Amino acid sequence: MRVAIAGGGLAGLACAKYLCDAGHQPILFERRDVLGGLVAAWKDADGDWVETGLHNFFGAYPNTLQLFRELGISDRLQWKQHALIFNQPDKPGTYSRFDLPDIPAPWNAIVAILRNNDMLTWAEKVKFAMGLIPAMIRGQEYVEQMDRYSLLEWLQRQGIDERVNTDIFIAVSKALAFINPDEISATVPLTALNRFLQQKDGSKIAYLDGAPPERLCQPMVDYIVARGGEVHLNRALQEIALNSDGSVQGFRFARQDSQGSVPMDITADAYVSALSVDPLKELLPAEWRGIPYFQQLQELEGVPVISLQLWFDRKLTEIDHSLFSRSPLLSVYADMSNTCRAYADPERSMLELVLAPAAEWIERSDEEILSATLEELKKLFPQHLCGPNPAQIRKWVVVKTPRSVYKAIPGRQQYRPTQVTPIPNFFLAGSYTRQPFLGSMEGAILSGKWAAEAISKGIPATKTPTSSTPPTLTASSV
Ligand SMILES: Cc1cc2nc3c(=O)[nH]c(=O)nc-3n(C[C@H](O)[C@H](O)[C@H](O)COP(=O)(O)OP(=O)(O)OC[C@H]3O[C@@H](n4cnc5c(N)ncnc54)[C@H](O)[C@@H]3O)c2cc1C
Repeated sequence: MRVAIAGGGLAGLACAKYLCDAGHQPILFERRDVLGGLVAAWKDADGDWVETGLHNFFGAYPNTLQLFRELGISDRLQWKQHALIFNQPDKPGTYSRFDLPDIPAPWNAIVAILRNNDMLTWAEKVKFAMGLIPAMIRGQEYVEQMDRYSLLEWLQRQGIDERVNTDIFIAVSKALAFINPDEISATVPLTALNRFLQQKDGSKIAYLDGAPPERLCQPMVDYIVARGGEVHLNRALQEIALNSDGSVQGFRFARQDSQGSVPMDITADAYVSALSVDPLKELLPAEWRGIPYFQQLQELEGVPVISLQLWFDRKLTEIDHSLFSRSPLLSVYADMSNTCRAYADPERSMLELVLAPAAEWIERSDEEILSATLEELKKLFPQHLCGPNPAQIRKWVVVKTPRSVYKAIPGRQQYRPTQVTPIPNFFLAGSYTRQPFLGSMEGAILSGKWAAEAISKGIPATKTPTSSTPPTLTASSV
């Protein structure tokens, strides 16, 4: 089967990879001149990589880890010590660690929490643990039901102390979904916590050893092309053309070449949108807009986020790990000169930082964003950035993503569409689609895999559903 895929992020690439494995011929088209979507990166004039954002892989990402094994690139994941490290706002320049010992879950997490005396009192720890009991006993079903509450509401309902929120959950919410606990659906952090408590290495973090397009997307392209598939850049999907019965007749792309934009029609046996939800909504054919399955997409939209990379003239830290800033503007960050082999520098730091929530900042100038970031960094690194001889920034870059992963506010789970659509030859992939790993790389990869499985199994069109239901083929591949 020949399958046309629009979108060259991890979901589209994973879909193409798994279609090849099933003996089909995928033809993938990406709008930009770089693959990876939200993990895209490009080189600046000096040859330094600029990334869309800091990306952490987790032990709790089974499909991602399997994909790395299948591509023969597992050695490109640089696993860090099993720990979560937080800045301490009341003690500038210091860190508080949750170190997970090498014992089975959930005991490793419990020991880590009990041993940490910086962040929570014993009474707070006990109440927090009690609050988590329903999630641990009733599992994912309970976690999904909590989508009706924001995290803050959920914490209050469980009687969990406000300090647990300020100490831990503001940082966790910002890192997981780029919004604060009063906005984020309780389902998101509870999903992550549940996996971390159930899987010994679930919260273990790894960094890719270089820029994702080169170190992850390119091996996928090589794999696809070696098996008869195709990957094309600079091809923007412009129109989904329909047959009279509402099925897809073809994808119309705009091909960018020296003549400008040239239309290009592609026909195939099946079609996949691996676009993020916002551009897909724009491209939906008028005939599909009244179908409830597609109407639900209007309830989803991408959340803004900003990434910064700052190259310093000296070392600010030797920590080889992700750091939760616990500051108002910044979220998670890392010194990539320590964490990532390709960016290694024993003399000088390169900080990569996520700024979130970014709604108020996305329209502001890069200079304003840098200046606000530096004010917060002075509290994180007072010994290097304050005083008579502060570290100097050699180079900096701000990358704005006005619409990134879907905004995971309460009530969104029900609107996330299945990969199988009511249109017999049209499928969806993307981290916003329904899968149990939220808006993550693992979610994107799994969605692509499920879309490929659905196509391979020749899932027939469902009757136009009034609400979406999970695909029936999922259990085997989780
Ligand atoms: C700053 C940041 C940090 C993150 N950190 C983490 C992390 O630490 N861990 C984690 O697991 N996840 C993280 N994520 C989330 C993760 O990056 C995403 O969930 C995942 O990469 C989404 O992949 P996707 O393929 O579903 O969508 P996308 O990456 O959005 O891919 C969609 C693709 O479609 C293309 N496209 C759009 N319109 C068209 C068109 N008309 N025609 C053709 N192509 C088109 C886009 O250019 C893009 O390449 C982070 C995201 C950001 C932004």
